[in-house]
Parts: sequence; C-alpha cells; structure tokens
Amino acid sequence: MIKWNVGLNLGINSLDTEHKYLLKLINKLSTSINEDSTKEYVNTIFDELIQATIKHSKNEEEILQKCNYENLDLHSMDHLDFIDRIKELKGNYNNSYSSDDIASELYDLLLIHIISEDIPLISLFENNGLIQEEESEKYIFNTLIKKITNTISFTKRILLSTLIPLSGMLILGFIILMGNYYKHQELKDTFSITKIISNVNLLAHALQIERGLSSGYLSSTENKFQSSLSKQHLSVDREIEAFNLKLSSINKKNLKTIQEYIQIFKTDISKLNSLRQRVDSKTITQMETMTLYTETIKNILDITSKIASFNINPKIHASISTLYSILQYKEALGQSRAYGTVIIEKKNIILDEKIKFIQLISTQNIFLELYDKTASSSQKKLKNSLLNSTLHTEIDSYEKNILENKFLHLDSEVWFKDMTLYINSVKNVENVLLDETTLLLEAKLKEDVHHLILWIIYIGLIITITIFIIYLFERSSKNQLHQLTDAMNHLADGERDLRLKPIQLKDSLSQMYHAYEITRQKLLHGDIYTQLYKNQKEIETIRQQRENDKLEKLAFIDPLTNCINRRKFEEISNLELQRSSRYNSELSFLMLDIDHFKAVNDTYGHAIGDDVLKHFSSVCLKLARDTDIVARIGGEEFIVMLPETNEDSALILAERFREKIYNSTLTIDEHTIKYSVSIGISSLNSDNDSSVSVILQRADKALYEAKKSGRNKSIIFKEQI
Ligand code: GH3
Ligand code: MG
Ligand code: MG
Repeated sequence: MIKWNVGLNLGINSLDTEHKYLLKLINKLSTSINEDSTKEYVNTIFDELIQATIKHSKNEEEILQKCNYENLDLHSMDHLDFIDRIKELKGNYNNSYSSDDIASELYDLLLIHIISEDIPLISLFENNGLIQEEESEKYIFNTLIKKITNTISFTKRILLSTLIPLSGMLILGFIILMGNYYKHQELKDTFSITKIISNVNLLAHALQIERGLSSGYLSSTENKFQSSLSKQHLSVDREIEAFNLKLSSINKKNLKTIQEYIQIFKTDISKLNSLRQRVDSKTITQMETMTLYTETIKNILDITSKIASFNINPKIHASISTLYSILQYKEALGQSRAYGTVIIEKKNIILDEKIKFIQLISTQNIFLELYDKTASSSQKKLKNSLLNSTLHTEIDSYEKNILENKFLHLDSEVWFKDMTLYINSVKNVENVLLDETTLLLEAKLKEDVHHLILWIIYIGLIITITIFIIYLFERSSKNQLHQLTDAMNHLADGERDLRLKPIQLKDSLSQMYHAYEITRQKLLHGDIYTQLYKNQKEIETIRQQRENDKLEKLAFIDPLTNCINRRKFEEISNLELQRSSRYNSELSFLMLDIDHFKAVNDTYGHAIGDDVLKHFSSVCLKLARDTDIVARIGGEEFIVMLPETNEDSALILAERFREKIYNSTLTIDEHTIKYSVSIGISSLNSDNDSSVSVILQRADKALYEAKKSGRNKSIIFKEQI
C-alpha cells in the first residue's frame, strides 16, 4: 500500500483526482494479488485500471493541447507505453509470473509518470493560467516583485542592489561638485568685475576734480581755473578711455549683472562734451553744472555699490562696502570742494547754499559712520589718521568760517588746493582698501580651487572605497551561492560526497547550507538502504538459484555414487547420439557390471556393499575424461559414454577401468576386499543406430559374453556373439 503524497499534486484538480484514483486501483490490485484473490477479481481491477489510465491520458492530452505544448506527441507516446505495459503485466499475471513484481512495477510506472513526466509541466500550466495563483499575488507590490524575479537573474539583482545606491551617491557627489564649481565660477566672474572698481574710482575721482574746477571757473571773473580745467579735461578723457578698455577686456557674459549701469555711464559720457562746451562759454549756471556732474559721478559710483551688493562672501562683502563708503565720503568731499570754492569766490553765503553745505558735511559724516560699521580695525586706524591730520583741521576751520559767513581770510584757491590734497589722501586710503579687496578676492578664489580639488579627492576616495567594499560583498555572496548551487547539482546528479562547511553566522544562507547538509545525509541514508535492499535481493536471488541448482542436481544425480541417473543419462546420451550422427563422429559406450556383487553383500553386509559401489564409481569418475559421462543405470550396473571414441579406443579405456578396479584393495572395517568388473563395449554404427537403447543392447550382449567367459574382462560386441 502506498499513500498519496501531497508533493505529487500538480495543482490541477481533475488531473490530481485521476492520479489519486490510479494509485488507489494499484493499491487494490497489490492487496488482492497478495491475498490470493480469485483471478477473475484481479482481472476486473486490471481492466478498471486500464480504463482509468486511458481516460486520464485523454484528459491530460486535452489540457496539454490547450496549453499548445510542443512535445505533446512524445507525451502521448509515453501514455501509450504506460497503457501497453499495464496490459502486458495483466498478461504476466495470468501466466502466473511472480506477482510481487507486478505490483511494484505498476507503482513504479505511475510514479515515473507523475514525477518525471507531469511535475515538470507545472510551470507550463501556471503560464497558461490553469493553476490558481495565491491571493497575495494579486497585489501590485507582489506582482512587481514577481516580475523582477522573473526578468532579472539573482546574481544581477545582488549587483544592482549595491550599484543603485552607488549611482545615487555618484549623482549626489556630482551635484555637490557641480555646485562648488558653479560657485567658483560665480566668484571668478565677480572677481573679473571687481577689477573695474579701481577704474571706476579713478574716473569718479577725475570727474570730481573736473566738477570742482568747472564750478570754480564759472564763479571766477578772472578765469582763474581755466588752464587747470583744460588739463583736467584731458585726464578725465584718459580715465574714460582706460575704463572703456577695461570693460572691453572683460567677458561680456560676466558684465551682465552691471550692464544697466554701464549703459547709463555711456549715456552720461556722451553728454559730457556738450556740458564742457557750455561751461567753457559760460552759458550754463553753476548750480546746473554741479547737478549734472554730480549726477554723472553718482551713476558711476553706483557701479561699485552694485558690486558691493553681490553676495559672495561676508568678508569680501564687508571689504567692498567699506570701499563704497569711502568713495561716497570722497564724493561728498568733492561736492563740498566745489560749493566751497564758489561760495568763497563770492565771499557771501545765502541760506540755500548754507543748507546745501551743511547737507554735504552731514553726508560726509554719515558715510564715515557707515565706514566704521564694515571696516576692520586697521582700516579704522587709516580713517582716524585722516581725520586727525592738520589738513582736516584746516578744512574744518574753513568750513566753520564759511558757515559763519566770515570770508575775510579765506582764499578760494587755498580752499580748493587744501581740499584737493585732503581728497587725494582719502584716495590713498581708498587705494589701500582696493588692494585689500583684490587680495581678499584672490585668496578666496585660491581657497575655492583648493576646496574643489579636496572635494574631488574626497568623493573619489569614498567612491573607490565603496566600490571595493561592494565588490567584496558581492563576491562573498556570489561565492556562497555558487557553492550551494554546485552542491545541489552534485546532489541531483546522485553524488553524495560533497559536504558543505557550515557557516558560523546564522542567516538564511546558513539555513540553506544546513538544509542542504540534512538533505544530503537523508539521501545518503536512503542510498545506503536502497543498496542494502538491492544486496539482500541479490543474495536472495543467488540463494534461490543455488537451491534450484541443487534441486535440479538432485533430480539427476545418484546420491550414493554421484553418477548421473538413468533418466538424465537417457536425455544426454540421446542428444549426443543426434550430434554424433549429424557430424558423423564416433561414439562408444561401456556397460560395466561388478562381478559377484551379490556375494559382497552377502559376505560383508549391504552397507559395505554400498561402500564398494562408492569406491567403484569414484574410480570410474576419476578415470573418465571431461567429455565422458558416467551413469548408474541399475543397482551395480554402470554405463560410461565416450564421445569422439571408436571401439578400439573404448577398449583401451575399458581395460584401464577394469585393471584399476582389479588392482585396488579396499579396507573397510578390518575387511580387506578385492573385486572385479566385467565390461561390454559397443560403438555407434551410424547407418543403423537410431536410438541409444539399440547400442546398449549390443553392449549388454558383450557384457553377457564377458561374464560368461569368466568375468573380469572387457569385450567388444561382435555380430557372431
Ligand atoms: P554376476 O557376477 O553375475 O553379476 O553376479 P552378481 O552377484 O553380481 O549378480 P547380480 O548382478 O544379479 O547381482 C546384483 C546384486 O546387487 C543384487 C543386489 O543384492 C545387489 N544390489 C543391487 N543394488 C544394490 C545396492 O544399492 N546396494 C547393495 N549393497 N547391493 C545392491
Ligand atoms: Mg553383478
Ligand atoms: Mg547386475
């Protein structure tokens, strides 16, 4: 009886039910054969099994056809073989062959059909939607996982699960690098723009002087400032040219942020010539001149203000802002110089002018305060030395006198000269600040490049280390998997010698290793049992064979003398006769009869008589050739068949027998026994002899002749006897 194992289920209800039914029938058959049920009953089960198998094959083939199974023909052939074999086994049963084997072969057939032919088709059934998928697989997440499992190999998935985060890291590193690079690029652009600050300063400074000289010229009746003014025109023009040259040396793209201011500057400069002509011809008021120049200077200084607003770096920002404050301070000084010159020249100050003058002085103070907000301590010192200079004290007293309307000791040219000297020293401070700003920018640029290189090195290092670690991890996982796969393949090939070393760490792979090892041991166990079972079967078969041989031997060997008996002799001798007749070869027979044997029995007893018989047969068997046959055909009558032997040779052999017997002395139970034998000889006469008995009759006649003529003789049959 074999129970249904759920491992044999295919997942298709109809097929599984049929398989179970077939197993049930084979179980029934096995039991009824074992219980010696009637042949009729067993035959009905056989027929039922054949019908069920045919029905099942048909059903299975229909399902396979629906799945467009490409090897359907081969599969159908297997089914036909299956059915034919059952029919054959039924025939064997009815011919009373060993019934044990019938049941076990039927089990074998069914299990081979299910395990080797049907189970491999499960994936085909699944792909055709014949097998119901589990509930959980309906979720998108699980479908996604299944899709990945079916499309990307396991080792590739391991590699990807490490490569994907690495790519993320690479992208992140790249973004950081690019960010740094763009920041650096921005700084470089700003740096190139800051180069124009010095030109802006120089130009503003020159214009400031021109403004002062122009207003002085307009207010003076003696054309006091004329020559200085025309000289100043030239230096302003030089600064404009230098500024334009600097602008053209800078990449247009970098100038984008201050483009608007440059445009204003260009418009202002284009109007400058007409302004100068109007000043020269004194067709413009002093106030208008001041306003126009101041507007132009303001616009130019706005460029620095714009640059100061760039958010580059707090230190640079502070430095440019300080510079901007000093520029504005200088501009307010410039305006004071111009207004002062005009007022002193008039030697009178009206209220409007007074207000304007006070405004300019407070503007100066505001920018000095602003300066302090962003300046470093050394920069503050520079400013203080300016304020504490004698020149500043002089200017202070001039301003005081102007505001108090005391012009008696004031000279416009001295004022202009002092202011110009003071403005120049402010300009020196401005130059120092500009140099410091440039140095700061250069340092920042260098630092940025340094940072960029460090970033590249860090990211490169991290990526190299990560790739190395990923490689190690990937190799280690792959190695274990390959080991396991090899081992499993080995196992599937029937090898049981590959033992996997257990993994110390408790994880799913170590569990797989463990499971492999347990499976290996179980299979090993199974193999050994199968081997034992086979050995037992073999031993059983050999034992059976020996038993049969023994029985067979007993059937034709005479137990007392070990010679073959009459029945076997008749069988062998007749075959030999046919062979000799066909090949026309010679064949002779000796008929031997112990002389006066009755007397031996009578004298020593029947048991000793048996011993004499044993002695006699052993002598005959010893002397006979391999091809000769010694048979006991009666109580103390023996025949020796001599193939390929003619009468004369037979006589020589007979004599050898006779002499050997005659010359032997037997000592049994203190009795000394001597005996003799008479031998009749006859050979095959291929023309007449159709059976052995005919030849033996002749040998018998010859024996009779030997007895009659005195015994202990060998005589060949002759017609005249
Ligand atoms: P002859 O020389 O004329 O052959 O004289 P004989 O005494 O041998 O005469 P016969 O051949 O007629 O005698 C056969 C005897 O052999 C008769 C029987 O008692 C004896 N005999 C037959 N079979 C056996 C046997 O198996 N064991 C013993 N001990 N004696 C047997
Ligand atoms: Mg005898
Ligand atoms: Mg006899």
